[in-house]
Amino acid sequence: MNELYVQPVGIVGEQAIAWAEAVAGEWFPFPVRRLPPLEVPPGSYDPARRQHQSVAIMKALARDVPPGAARVLGLTEFDLSIPLLTFLFGQAQLDGPVALVSLCRLRQEFYRLPPDPGLLRERLAKEMLHELGHTFGLTHCPSAECAMSLSTHIEMVDTKRAAWCHACGSRLARRFAPLRGGQA
Ligand SMILES: [Zn+2]
Ligand SMILES: [Zn+2]
Repeated sequence: MNELYVQPVGIVGEQAIAWAEAVAGEWFPFPVRRLPPLEVPPGSYDPARRQHQSVAIMKALARDVPPGAARVLGLTEFDLSIPLLTFLFGQAQLDGPVALVSLCRLRQEFYRLPPDPGLLRERLAKEMLHELGHTFGLTHCPSAECAMSLSTHIEMVDTKRAAWCHACGSRLARRFAPLRGGQA
């Protein structure tokens, strides 16, 4: 009960999944488990935009949430979008069980720069804290350094720290307190 699951969506390398599991275990008070890769929902790929529709993947993740799961984090290499935005680094259900993070635009290669695994891991940690923070009721934070600040560009991801500010961290600690006791 109360596991935090990491679920690859499509093909995701072992290294990135292992990073996600390590970040989850470091920042969230739940046992971390891995789910088999999600079958990519047919029709989620938008050939005109060459992107996957985030909402379709979120729905598929939500359908498969294991009973008693604390949260499910989908991790994908797909470039994600929703109709109103050109892209998303990730998406989450506010106060719900499902979050999704895309590695696509966290990679230096996306910006035609040499790969930087250390930077990729750091960006992944920030986006995980952000999206999973939403699933515990956190909204966007006005502090540009807080992981809960809104990032619409990779420079904004790099500006923030892989940590919550004091206010967001305190809110989360209050949410985690009863969960640590093993209650839903
Ligand atoms: Zn957000
Ligand atoms: Zn904050």
